[in-house]
Amino acid sequence: MHHFPERLAFEPISVQEAYESRALTEMLRYIAAYSPFYREQFAKHHVDPNAIQGLKDLSQLPFTTKADIQERNWDFLCVPRTEVREYTATSGTMGKPVSIALTENDLQRLAYNERQSFLCAGGTPEDIYQLALTLDRQFMAGMAYYSGIRNMGASLVRTGPGLPQMQWETIQRLQTTCMVAVPSFLLTLGQWAGEHGIDPGKAPIKKAVCIGESIRRADFSLSTLGAQIAALWPIKLYSTYAATELQTAFTECSSAQGGHHQPELIIVEIADDAGNILPDETPGEIVITTLGIEGMPLLRYRTGDIAALHPAPCSCGRFSKRLGPVVGRKGQMIKYRGTTLYPPAIFDILNEAAYVTGYVVEVFSGAQGTDEVRLHIHTSRSVDECDRHLRALLQSRLRVVPELQYHSGTDMQAMMMPAGSRKQVRFIDNRSRNLG
Ligand SMILES: [Zn+2]
Repeated sequence: MHHFPERLAFEPISVQEAYESRALTEMLRYIAAYSPFYREQFAKHHVDPNAIQGLKDLSQLPFTTKADIQERNWDFLCVPRTEVREYTATSGTMGKPVSIALTENDLQRLAYNERQSFLCAGGTPEDIYQLALTLDRQFMAGMAYYSGIRNMGASLVRTGPGLPQMQWETIQRLQTTCMVAVPSFLLTLGQWAGEHGIDPGKAPIKKAVCIGESIRRADFSLSTLGAQIAALWPIKLYSTYAATELQTAFTECSSAQGGHHQPELIIVEIADDAGNILPDETPGEIVITTLGIEGMPLLRYRTGDIAALHPAPCSCGRFSKRLGPVVGRKGQMIKYRGTTLYPPAIFDILNEAAYVTGYVVEVFSGAQGTDEVRLHIHTSRSVDECDRHLRALLQSRLRVVPELQYHSGTDMQAMMMPAGSRKQVRFIDNRSRNLG
């Protein structure tokens, strides 16, 4: 396998960037030689990859989008099919699924990435991990966790998703110390324990690595979901961010101030819609260049996820930058009365209001082309009482109070679960620029 400098995250940023620059030039030579897609891109954009000296020249290179991979999937493959060892695929929740093919070295890189992530999240060889997640169905992350934990020298048990009773039986029988699960399932587990006379605080589980969903707000405080878990179950929560295409994770350390960048594995940039690179601490689209990948390396891949990079050295001793919680998806940004909002921040507030029993957030264009927000609400209380509490809550948390429209339970259900939809609708974008 490629030899990665394990301690690079603990070196000053200048050392990290020097490494990234060297790895970038190597990566560019590789894709120019072996990737049909990038060879064509370099010709089309009149870019000479050999002229790129390092990070400072990165912005001269073209972006890669999800649509590029969807349309040209196999032109991204840099090795003969006989060199592929595993095929994985994205879930397809964001459109047509894409295949990501990994070589043996890529699988080892993936295991290294996840070992480093678990070490960052307070992992030790003495830990026993309970993997309450999917390990098949073409899902890359499950295998990554599995191999990363083994690589770290810790032990694990694959319980898979769901089945709270079996999960608790396993926790008690094996004395597992760390859950790896989606946060909403951790909440289910905590609730199940309470209903069945189990005190989660006395369980051997001391921490959880939270995957797939964000448990923090942009200021790193726990989201409503994160706080609900913490209230039921006094364990340390570690958030992670990853996407299949990246083959790399950003994982929090015990300081819980964002997921640490792994400079030996990827280059991360934050871009605005026009493709300009934004300064640190400014939220924008996460753009990733992979390092050390043989099968399907990606150059300046636009993830569509919005977050900010935080450059201050971390109390854990790492100097690597930290990626803040994902605050939303590109294209969902709402400019509302001078405030920039993403739907998840509104969901978080509505989730906090226990008296709101159903909701849909609608954004539409006002007379001057401005963004307007309307919250469709169903409440278990009287409308007057809900209105009073909700207006106060929105004012304190959002600083603005959108239009509120109340609905009966039946109407609300019809809006949240339209005929033919298999997923609950929480956000409707009726802005004119998004129509047609
Ligand atoms: Zn840290």
